[in-house]
Amino acid sequence: MSRTAKILIIEDEQAIRAGLIDVLVYHGFAPDAAEDGQSGLDKALSGQYDLILLDVMLPKLNGFEVCERIREADREQAIIMLTAKSGDEDIIHGLQLGADDYVAKPFSVAQLVERIKAVLRRAKVGQEEAHTLCFGEMEVDTRNLCGRRNNDEIAFTRREMDVLQYLHKHSDRPVPREELLARLWGYARNLNIETRTVDIHIAKLRRKIEPDPAQPQHLLTVRGAGYRLMVD
Ligand code: CA
Repeated sequence: MSRTAKILIIEDEQAIRAGLIDVLVYHGFAPDAAEDGQSGLDKALSGQYDLILLDVMLPKLNGFEVCERIREADREQAIIMLTAKSGDEDIIHGLQLGADDYVAKPFSVAQLVERIKAVLRRAKVGQEEAHTLCFGEMEVDTRNLCGRRNNDEIAFTRREMDVLQYLHKHSDRPVPREELLARLWGYARNLNIETRTVDIHIAKLRRKIEPDPAQPQHLLTVRGAGYRLMVD
């Protein structure tokens, strides 16, 4: 890595915040921290961080509000939500608001570091592979995270674009959800909630690229095999 990645921790519990700072320093990152949602959002919007670790339950503004506000301002910003272990609804809500990934508390340090590295790696690859994708009536600019269908402008998050780019690159076949998880999120496990992470992103993409998201013509589900993007 050419430069130390700067990571903003937004977490109100002092012990967890201090622990995360130690872990990140140990693994060669440059951490900064905020202890409530509002000050975290202010820092995040300065745009100087490679990644944001965002707790859900926070004073002033909660993590969902912070996530939504960051995403409105910056579709590139990498965000990992810190959720409760049993919080499937929190996880889904965070992903729908545009978080790239989540780590459930109490988390293992190894898992946290692995996911941070995976998100940072993808953000970098996504920016380097920039080009124009065309399918159906869609024209998509992968660098600027935008697209056009007829005369409608469509905005994508970096992670949505990663999924679209990957499916486009492999449009000769259906891509299994596990493959998308392994290649884009950087892990391969078979928990229900993790494959739903993929499904949520597919649903968001369909709302953007399909004239009728309930009857997809471009981004198809191939039963038992995965998702396939039809390019012509
Ligand atoms: Ca908290």
